[in-house]
Amino acid sequence: MEGILALCHFCETHGPCVILCTQRFKQEPNQSSQNLSASCDACFSINANQALICRENGKMYVTTRVPLQQDLAFLLKQAAIRSLSCEEETSKDGGSIYFGDSERGHVISHSFLLQDSLARGFQRKYSVLMLMKDKVHLLNIWPSLSEHIKELIKDLQQQAARINELEQEQKSQRALRQAQGSPKTTSRSLSELTGQPAIFGHIHLWFSWVLNSETITEKSPRNVMPLPSRSPVNLRSFCRSWLKNNFQTVCFCVLTGCELLVDDESVRETFRTLLPEEWPPCRLRPPCILKYKKIWKVEWSEQLPNKLPSLQIEIEKALRNPDLPDAALESFFNYLLLRWRNIASNLVKVTSPDDVTLLQSMGVQDCDKPLLKYWIENCK
Ligand SMILES: [Zn+2]
Repeated sequence: MEGILALCHFCETHGPCVILCTQRFKQEPNQSSQNLSASCDACFSINANQALICRENGKMYVTTRVPLQQDLAFLLKQAAIRSLSCEEETSKDGGSIYFGDSERGHVISHSFLLQDSLARGFQRKYSVLMLMKDKVHLLNIWPSLSEHIKELIKDLQQQAARINELEQEQKSQRALRQAQGSPKTTSRSLSELTGQPAIFGHIHLWFSWVLNSETITEKSPRNVMPLPSRSPVNLRSFCRSWLKNNFQTVCFCVLTGCELLVDDESVRETFRTLLPEEWPPCRLRPPCILKYKKIWKVEWSEQLPNKLPSLQIEIEKALRNPDLPDAALESFFNYLLLRWRNIASNLVKVTSPDDVTLLQSMGVQDCDKPLLKYWIENCK
């Protein structure tokens, strides 16, 4: 499932509900619209049997009242309820929060208020949220998504404030209502609140633009690029025959971008299996010199860290594992390398690569940072 962007509202009559959502499709969806529960002006957007559609780069962006797929409609409704009733950012200027799990989907939500002189408390509550199955990707795009959402909200709030001001000038509704002590509220649509008859068309275009934007779209060209076929069997024999510290030092050097200086091309070739691609060494890292004097000796100006990168530990474990046959080793290596190349590729797009929550969610620890620094540079 790709991400769904939705606008939700806490209706004074119907409670929390989804009023508009946009999804991306590869081809025209053939589902028919859902049976919708009752709605009033406040929770109305477009007709239940209506869809707003635009096309971009061979993809379709479809906006409907609720998702066409019944299971997603249910998940989105749950997310709307949580975003408007319990999961709220309480700081003054608001902000986005994350909630979710693997069953109900992962959500980034941003709730906000719009001025309305006829509403209870003179304001109405809305939220914009993104629902996705892929937690890592969602957390990855959080910074840019949050910026986009804030822009839309600011726009809506300014429009609503302008309309509210005009209304106040014409007739002080607030004073009138307070004088009458009327508890009755009048539901009004978002079009009325913002003075924009085509507001839902604007939101559809805006949601489509966000789903199409470079930072949000899940692109993984590197994932589909196969790894060069190189058997790690030689590496296994090195691992078993070399002194442990020497072997670990060379592995660490190669994985973190130190240049390997060795006369024997086959040795260099063997250690190359540790990297998913032919990457140039990092000039800032000291070289690692290998010399053969009865046994292989290693000269390197640095010390191994107390804790080796997770990938290196997993690789060594696999090489030493007698239950993992040579025939299965290459596939297992590819799996490990692809996994870490994927993490590095995802971190390329992140504006704050030191975000602890994000790194934790990807299983990245401090010991992985020297490796990732080199890998991220090569995944750009
Ligand atoms: Zn309603």
